[in-house]
Amino acid sequence: MNFARARARMVEEQLVDRGVSDLRVLAVMSEVERHRFVAEALQQRAYDDKALPIGERQTISQPYMVGLMTQILELRGGERVLEIGTGCGYQTAVLAELAATVYTIERLAPLAAAARATLAACGYANVVTRVGDGTIGWAEEAPFDRILITAGTPQVPRPLVTQLREGGSLVFPVGEEQLQTLVRIRKEAEGLREEYFGDCRFVKLVGRYGWRE
Ligand code: SAH
Repeated sequence: MNFARARARMVEEQLVDRGVSDLRVLAVMSEVERHRFVAEALQQRAYDDKALPIGERQTISQPYMVGLMTQILELRGGERVLEIGTGCGYQTAVLAELAATVYTIERLAPLAAAARATLAACGYANVVTRVGDGTIGWAEEAPFDRILITAGTPQVPRPLVTQLREGGSLVFPVGEEQLQTLVRIRKEAEGLREEYFGDCRFVKLVGRYGWRE
């Protein structure tokens, strides 16, 4: 299979045609080798228009969702980003290409270990990984310019709002177990401003300020 061609098609048909227009996001998703983040048996499907299993009953997000979430984070290159839900590390890699440093937390140790290995093999030196409950954030490294949660939560985890720098934004799926809305919260001097970016479906954010088990 020609992965480069599959990736170019993915960018055209799944991202550009659906309105992802940030050229830096498109360029990065044209380059990052998504197939390296899934098991060998699934590599042929790595550029399909869907989420795929990554083990431990978790999934790698659909390419469009990665593109949309990255676009609405509006990264300019100098940011310190906190990501909750490393999973296989694909979204982490996309963030690492567009920001200064990515701090990423995964709850399940086997997934965190696999992601760390893949990210190192891909040569990312600006990613810091941690195993734990991301809903409490990463206080020692706060504040962050951007925070991205890649799992669905019933409400915004308050510690993450606290750990966001003023002027920064937090992007996350919020709602019920089977259906969420993608939200961006901007932290401004006057308070928090919320914007909505449509329906989405993610696995559960499980933790102290997310879902219970
Ligand atoms: N960005 C990932 C998405 C993985 S799915 C990718 O593209 O591969 C969401 C991930 O969030 C799962 O791996 C799940 O284990 C993890 N997760 C769920 N609750 C969490 C929590 N409280 N802290 C950290 N990670 C969590």
